[in-house]
Amino acid sequence: IDEDASSILKKPTINFNDVGGMDKVKEEIDLKIIKPLIHKDLYKAYGKKIGGGILLYGPPGCGKTHIAKATAGEINANFINIGINDILDMWLGNSEKNLHEIFETARRNKPCVIFIDEIDALGANRNDINKTAGRTVINQFLSELDGIESDNDGILVLGATNAPWYIDPAFRRPGRFDRIIFVSPPDEISRKSIFNIELKGKPIGNIDLDELAKKSKEFSGADIKSSIDIAIEQKLKESFKDGVPKPLSTKDIIKTFKKMKASTKEW
Ligand code: ATP
Repeated sequence: IDEDASSILKKPTINFNDVGGMDKVKEEIDLKIIKPLIHKDLYKAYGKKIGGGILLYGPPGCGKTHIAKATAGEINANFINIGINDILDMWLGNSEKNLHEIFETARRNKPCVIFIDEIDALGANRNDINKTAGRTVINQFLSELDGIESDNDGILVLGATNAPWYIDPAFRRPGRFDRIIFVSPPDEISRKSIFNIELKGKPIGNIDLDELAKKSKEFSGADIKSSIDIAIEQKLKESFKDGVPKPLSTKDIIKTFKKMKASTKEW
């Protein structure tokens, strides 16, 4: 990893095994961006085009960032996570250049997964910053995606949004974000697996994953994580007395559900 870039470049240690559910999303990411990277010649032999990014959309907290990070971990790639609003904020400080620098950093540190959140902030009616600024950033972004003057081989781009209908249609053309995948709220089986993943390595007693999954209807992955965090805080307090970690139980976790607001309700 080159030193100047170390603040934005990460090397994720998680992989697809750390992502609960999302089987379809994993499969699409694998076929569309991982396999082409590993089996370039095979794709070429069949005349199959490679390149282009994937756009993930769906309710907040359901694992878009998480799976992007895990994608990098799967192939031992570097990872850059950037929000469009950060890029727009940098506008006065010359955001085109910054966007270019982000992509250049990725190109110097291949393979690299670039995850760009809040793509809808560049939508036609979205930005309240002046229209020209928005347009300039869009054009810069498109040329970085197209790799016109640069080599995007080994650059995997994943975008995310909660509001795909605002996205500028130019982003959806072939070779850009030409695949769009819905990241749904986790169903019961997925919630079970998320509980299992998030509890891994923690002091646990008797945990009934099926019951947790059943009672956490409409929870996002992030909700599951915070319910466990709340339960852990309580256990920590109990453990201070003798310095021995007290195991988490099913009940400890279910107790926190009352304080939680299931955040995927509207979806
Ligand atoms: P936002 O739209 O708010 O950015 P997001 O879809 O990117 O949301 P994440 O940031 O990926 O959501 O999820 C938040 C946290 O919830 C993750 O860091 C992870 O700990 C947990 N989480 C979410 N989904 C899953 C999942 N499928 N498996 C395991 N953990 C998950």
